[in-house]
Amino acid sequence: MDRLHARYPFLEAAREAVATADVSLPVLVAEGAPAVARGRERVERALTEGTVESETPDAYGVQAELLSYPIARILVSLLESDAAIEKYARAEAATAIDRLLEDLDRDDELRSVGTVGIELEDVLREFDLEDAVRREAGRRTVNPARARYRIDVGPYLRLSSSDWGDRWRLVNRELADGSLPIDRDDLLRCLEEAVRDRVLEGLPFEFADDDELAAELSAEVEDLRRLLSERPRVGAIEVVAPDLFPPCMRNLIEKAERGTALSAPEEFALMAFLTGLDMSPEEVVAFCADTSLDAEAIRYQTEFLRDETGTQYPPPTCETLSAYGICHNEEDHWQIAGDPLAYYERRLEAADDVVGWRDRAEATGTTGDVDADA
Ligand code: SF4
Repeated sequence: MDRLHARYPFLEAAREAVATADVSLPVLVAEGAPAVARGRERVERALTEGTVESETPDAYGVQAELLSYPIARILVSLLESDAAIEKYARAEAATAIDRLLEDLDRDDELRSVGTVGIELEDVLREFDLEDAVRREAGRRTVNPARARYRIDVGPYLRLSSSDWGDRWRLVNRELADGSLPIDRDDLLRCLEEAVRDRVLEGLPFEFADDDELAAELSAEVEDLRRLLSERPRVGAIEVVAPDLFPPCMRNLIEKAERGTALSAPEEFALMAFLTGLDMSPEEVVAFCADTSLDAEAIRYQTEFLRDETGTQYPPPTCETLSAYGICHNEEDHWQIAGDPLAYYERRLEAADDVVGWRDRAEATGTTGDVDADA
């Protein structure tokens, strides 16, 4: 087991490392090894925050980090929810691509001092894409982020969706000789789909009623179920009144309006909040039209945040947002609510004569696909 396996546990080599290691998952679970707590955290953060990164990465060694992956797969299977499995797989994939981006953008000097990382070619080989994806001939660029590639049409269709926006439709790509050009960001988006598919392989695991491993994990599973059911389901709040948004969300919107890029946790928190107001992806795109946020990234993330019933868990709690430096406890309202949606709901209840963004946007024709409300 090495650090690369822990960083990318979906790799075939990581799976083999677990399979051939002298460890038994039932024994680890029975002993309450750190991998169990980390596996539980993996699932909790996947379902509530869209990432599987640990909040306390220094608390876990390489073995616990790697073994937490198969334990998380067991735990999410025991939740018996297709939506949970889908969200978990997407969070694993999103985290993997964030890590891959870090590795790709790390400069050569850092690589040479032994930092654990992976190359794009390694990931392409992992998914049998090494022949299907080629760096464009004659378009060498010093900045790897601006590199362009060609991808064969078959893998492109398998790993992308026209639901991601018009530019993903084949008719809008310059198809020639069975392949089409693709930039690095879009290639990584396709690879995220490949990781998601890999994570989904074999899930959910089936367990007999008297399965001992499932019984040993029942406390963790109950804990996850309770946590999810305690989090208020979204859909009850339908009024979009930006003037009443909590300071954390107003700050993020103002930052994006200044043209500053939001960090991944900031973007996730904002998208989860807006989705929590029952805003459709197109409404969120319209709402964020004059910001640094990319329309296709918004669509992707908001669709991810809504489950098949159109609802979703609310944004991260105030405590988590504080840990990320997103909340500064302005107006001392940590006392008032546990998460931004709950705080906003209270401000709405206390307000008179609320004029909703949808009303204003409808008047100016900038609502996206609004079909509801205030
Ligand atoms: S206390 Fe909660 S709602 Fe208020 S600013 Fe902080 S994160 Fe936002």
